[in-house]
Parts: sequence; C-alpha cells; structure tokens
Amino acid sequence: MNIHEYQAKALLKSYGAPVSDGRPVMKAEDAKTAAGEMDGPLWVVKAQIHAGGRGKGSFKEADAGDKGGVRLTKSVEEAAEEAKKMLGRTLVTHQTGPAGKQVNRVYIEDGSGIETEMYLALLVDRQTSRIGFVVSTEGGMDIEEVAENTPEKILNFTVDPATGYQAYHGRRVAFALGLTGAQVKQCVSLMGILYKAFTEKDMEMLEINPLIVTDKGDLKVLDAKVSFDGNAIYRHQDIAALRDETEEDPKELAASKYDLNYIALEGEIGCMVNGAGLAMATMDIIKLYGAEPANFLDVGGGATKEKVTEAFKIITSDPNVKGILVNIFGGIMRCDVIAEGVVAAVKEVGLKVPLVVRLEGTNVEEGKAIINNSDVDVIAADDLKDGAEKIVKAVKG
Ligand code: GDP
Ligand code: MN
Repeated sequence: MNIHEYQAKALLKSYGAPVSDGRPVMKAEDAKTAAGEMDGPLWVVKAQIHAGGRGKGSFKEADAGDKGGVRLTKSVEEAAEEAKKMLGRTLVTHQTGPAGKQVNRVYIEDGSGIETEMYLALLVDRQTSRIGFVVSTEGGMDIEEVAENTPEKILNFTVDPATGYQAYHGRRVAFALGLTGAQVKQCVSLMGILYKAFTEKDMEMLEINPLIVTDKGDLKVLDAKVSFDGNAIYRHQDIAALRDETEEDPKELAASKYDLNYIALEGEIGCMVNGAGLAMATMDIIKLYGAEPANFLDVGGGATKEKVTEAFKIITSDPNVKGILVNIFGGIMRCDVIAEGVVAAVKEVGLKVPLVVRLEGTNVEEGKAIINNSDVDVIAADDLKDGAEKIVKAVKG
C-alpha cells in the first residue's frame, strides 16, 4: 500500500526526522490560508499523487500551465494561484503512464534553500532477506539512470537483523555522501530514525530523493515515497487510515474488498484461476501461445459463489479483456462452486467475449453439468494447454 508524500513526511516527523513545515490542500479556496501559515520567502506547491517524477512531469490540460507538478513560488498569492492550477488537473510523469493521474490534493511546503541533493532508500533486500540501504550522491534524479550509467556512485549494504541498526551504518552512509562535521552526527541519527520507522511500520520501501543538505548546512528530508507491506496493514490501523482509494486501480480495490488476489495487467486475456502457482502457470502458457494476460487472479482455496461472481465481474469490467480463460483445479475449491459463480456472473453482467473453461478435480462432473445445463456460451477445454490454445485462438482468430 502506498501513501502520499505529505503523509509520509508527517509519519517520519513523528519519529523525529527533519522535514519542512507544510499543509495539505484539497480545495483551491483553502490554498491561500494554508500558504499564509508559513513565512516564506519560498513556498513550494507539490502535486500529491502516488507516482514519482512529478517535478519533470507535465499536465494534460493547458490551463494548468506548462510547469510540472512541483512549483517554486515567491509569495502566498502565487502559491495559491499555482495550487489552483494543479487541483483537478491530470499530471503525467514517467511513472504514471500516458493516462496520467488526477491531482486531488496538493501540498504547500515551506521552501528550503538547497546546498546538495542526495539519494537514499531503505528496502527489503530479497536476496539476503534483510533491510538494505541504497545511497548515492546523485540525488534529485532518476536512480535507475544512475545505476545504469554510473553504478560506482551507488552504495548498497544490508543490516543484520541480529544487531539491527548501529551507528557505524549511519557513518557509512555519511561518508558515502561526503558529509562532514555535525552532518555526520545528524546522518547517524536520521538513519536510525528511518530504520526504526521502516521496521516498526512494516514498510516495503522508503525512498528519499532528494535528501538534502540545506543552505544552513543541515540534513533534511525533501521528498518521501513510502510503501507498506499490504499483508501487514492489519497491524497498523493508523497506516490503513491513510489509504487514498482514489489513487488505486478500481478493479484492484474491488478485488481487495472481496479478498481476491488480483493484479491488473496490460494484456487481452482475462484469467480466473485458483492458486497462485496455477495462476502464474496460466499466465505463462497464455504468453507461450502468443497472447498477453489481462490480469493475475487467484480466487483462493475457500472461495464462495459470491466471491467467484465478483471476480468474474471485475474481469469483465476491464475494457482490454477480449476473452476469458477460467482455469480451475479443484482441490479445496470445488468445481461446482466455480461453475455456479461463473453462471451467476454471466447472468448478471452478460458475456460479450469468448469464454473458455477448464475444470479438473473435486466435483468436476457436477461443475461441467452446471455449465452445460445453463445457456452460457462456453468453450470447454480438457487441460491447461488445450484451454490456452482455445482462448488465444478465439481472441486472435
Ligand atoms: P519528484 O519530482 O516527484 O521526485 O518531487 P521532489 O519532491 O523530489 O521535487 C523535485 C525537485 O524539486 C527536487 O529535486 C528539488 O530540486 C526541487 N525542490 C523541491 N522542493 C524544493 C524546495 O523546498 N526548495 C528548492 N529550492 N527546490 C525544491
Ligand atoms: Mn523526488
């Protein structure tokens, strides 16, 4: 789960991290009051969307002006003006995709004088199963580009969970960033704060780009991007409350309400499968036969008829879906339950694309009978290979 920059900064501030004073603004008419609560001489107005690269992004609407999603302004009035231009408009960055994202909130921040911009991230390193630090002097830019062109400018290390964070980790970061004097102490303290927040709140990633040295020589968190482990959110009601549903794919949101494991993808074949392994195999075999999956969907072991109906509705609501492959190996999940769900869903939402169904396992005969006795137009498949071949053929001809 992702949160906005201003929420991430408030969270890090509660742990003691240095951030600027700022105010989130949802309505243009509130912008002037919010900006007026800060002294200036610089006010930064920042679009709040769950995507990076805002500064270098651009708006779709001409009346948003030709500046990106991060605007430096020199007065309260100008800050309010820029906030008004961004709210309700669509920001396109290299992370949003061409459709962009609507800006429903902006953050007005007390501007900082910047001496240097640096890069810092904490993440879960899958190779070592530890929390890793990624550090670079090349802040404010695309870290992927730095990794590609000048990998020697990136320091990577992980923290042994048996010892946890130690001051020497912080000193390592400080030296990699070329910090001196009091900044080293600030860095040791800040890294400890970030590590604590990361572990306590079950973060998946914490990216600060840029971390800056201000014109007064102090370290400050100027941008913050945080994502949390979705499977741990139940332990953090405070974090769950920060969820902004308008930022999420509506299909993924509907799926999460029904406890379905659903990920939207770009392809044309909708998949309904039970078990994550079979879902992966189904996606692979669709690709093998020359098409692309439109989603990953695992309906789980204990799915009910209602859950299956909802899953089917989510798949058919995707306009990219040109065909559907239902691939069920009934173990705990019974084939007749799936069949009932499919029939109920088709009755409710109709079926405008070809549907291939492959059922195998527990109650397979009952399942097939339910489908055959309904008037749903189904192409039956015998096995995984047959199912994939048939749906790709039905869609691609
Ligand atoms: P992003 O483009 O989505 O990553 O947004 P950032 O918050 O990282 O802002 C982009 C860039 O705007 C930063 O790298 C800075 O160069 C600049 N910027 C952001 N806030 C300030 C500020 O308070 N003062 C100054 N001088 N520049 C800022
Ligand atoms: Mn940034």
